[in-house]
Amino acid sequence: MAEEYPEEEFKIAKKEMDRLVYESLKGREVKPNVMFAKMSDLSRALGISKGMVKWSRVNSLWPMQFGLACCAIELMGFGSARIDAERKGYLLFRSTPRQSDVMLVAGWVTKSMVPEVKRLYEQMTEPRYVIAFGECATCGGPWFESYNIIRGIDQVLPVDVYVAGCPPKPENLFEAMIKLQEKISGKIED
Ligand code: SF4
Repeated sequence: MAEEYPEEEFKIAKKEMDRLVYESLKGREVKPNVMFAKMSDLSRALGISKGMVKWSRVNSLWPMQFGLACCAIELMGFGSARIDAERKGYLLFRSTPRQSDVMLVAGWVTKSMVPEVKRLYEQMTEPRYVIAFGECATCGGPWFESYNIIRGIDQVLPVDVYVAGCPPKPENLFEAMIKLQEKISGKIED
């Protein structure tokens, strides 16, 4: 199911937006047609505020700089100028989970790494999303029957999008991010 956005959450967002606009205008001489004033007008309508919050979430995904095995090489390709992921709002890889909301699990996950991966996930900002990138993250890949590798990251974390391939291409990750955007915006469901 696509994630639900409780009305209360949007009310809090609207209140916070009003507070920020008020603070930004306080003590300054601002022409009535500047952007902040327009945002203030817009934020008075809860429906528009709700849409703005959702639009912002959809268009500012921040992946975590995090790789586990050979699939992580493809993440480097994803961050290259050829893919130019920023044009769609997939901003630069963040070096800390506290500034990230998308975990790209790229590579196999050993049982000894599970607590660390879970800890990183729990440190990410909410709402947070997971993409299982490649066969290993999806189902264990070539190590499907290994004694020390789990059969997919979905055994320990909720996965939003799966990407097939060994390894998948950076273009596949680009497509997965588009799918994630559609899921967040409610265009598609699980
Ligand atoms: S899916 Fe293939 S390329 Fe990716 S981590 Fe597993 S073995 Fe390596």
